[in-house]
Amino acid sequence: MADKKNIVMSGIRPTGFLHLGNYFGAVKNYVRMQEEFECYFMVADLHSLTTHPDTKELKLNVQRVLSENIACGLDPEKVALYCQSHIYETSELYLYLNMLAYKGELEKTVTFKDKVRQHPDNVNAGLLTYPVLQTADIILHRATFVPVGKDQEQHLEMARNFANRFNHRYGEVFPEPQAFNYGSELVKVPSLDGGGKMSKSENQMATLYLSDDDELIRKKVMKAKTDAGPTEPNSVKPDYIENIFLLMKLVSSEDVVKKFEDDYNNCSIRYGDMKKQLAEDMVRFIAPVREKAEAIRNDEKYLKDVMEKGAEKARKSARATMTLVREVMGLNYFAP
Ligand code: ADP
Repeated sequence: MADKKNIVMSGIRPTGFLHLGNYFGAVKNYVRMQEEFECYFMVADLHSLTTHPDTKELKLNVQRVLSENIACGLDPEKVALYCQSHIYETSELYLYLNMLAYKGELEKTVTFKDKVRQHPDNVNAGLLTYPVLQTADIILHRATFVPVGKDQEQHLEMARNFANRFNHRYGEVFPEPQAFNYGSELVKVPSLDGGGKMSKSENQMATLYLSDDDELIRKKVMKAKTDAGPTEPNSVKPDYIENIFLLMKLVSSEDVVKKFEDDYNNCSIRYGDMKKQLAEDMVRFIAPVREKAEAIRNDEKYLKDVMEKGAEKARKSARATMTLVREVMGLNYFAP
């Protein structure tokens, strides 16, 4: 092998279906990264237990998220695509790191404070030590690149602190993980109702899911907020119109976008036509992914193979790291 590739690690939460925001904000980058780096993509099934202790739906959700990511182009042959719960080494590293993490710093984490507000009757220790488990997930593979959004920066900072603390106390094992993204600007996929971004916790009719059928896609797009159109040439677009253009840029051809930009600028735009065009381009984009994901989801044998193969790759890397960890910690009592 030539130069050692950078190692990428990212977690995918098994919560519900993927939407367009997840695709353009995350999965599309994973698909690109798999060509350039050594990638570990993990379905974070254990993390969900901190807030969703009921596991009835877990298997289905794991299968769903795997199928959708593969349908989007993630290739289980090129990356390690695995479930967190299949890698027991994570729990061991989590234990060691917990001894190096302080209650005070964990309590200050913004996401912890948010969760306490949302679930005041279930403030469990797992919730408090969530950043420690996340650190274990990442540094278990000695990853340097972590593709995450702004909301995760504090967690990554904590991961660097825990990794450095371990290195100082016991010996250099872990490189510092850094946030990674292509280009400086993170894509934000806007919602269809004019405000905010597409999200599974927001208005369902304003978020396009990769599992939506053609009619539902058309219905959602046609309901997007518009107005009577500009009256002055080259006007500034209101946010909700800008959002429709942004969505169009994601799935329509440049010619199509240009046509509607020109129509807008010379005040001849017909939003009904624009939304019809956007709806058809969305259908063309989403339908093949939906169909592929459905086929994969119905193939339990294939999914089992994917999970086994992914776990095998992740375990290999995890074992190599944990051998080093036990060695520097002085825990391998049988070594000569
Ligand atoms: P949700 O907001 O629907 O709960 P998650 O928080 O599970 O989604 O996010 C999973 C990934 O998708 C993250 O990397 C996040 O940055 C990205 N993502 C979610 N919504 C959007 C969006 N509307 N635009 C761009 N990226 C998004």
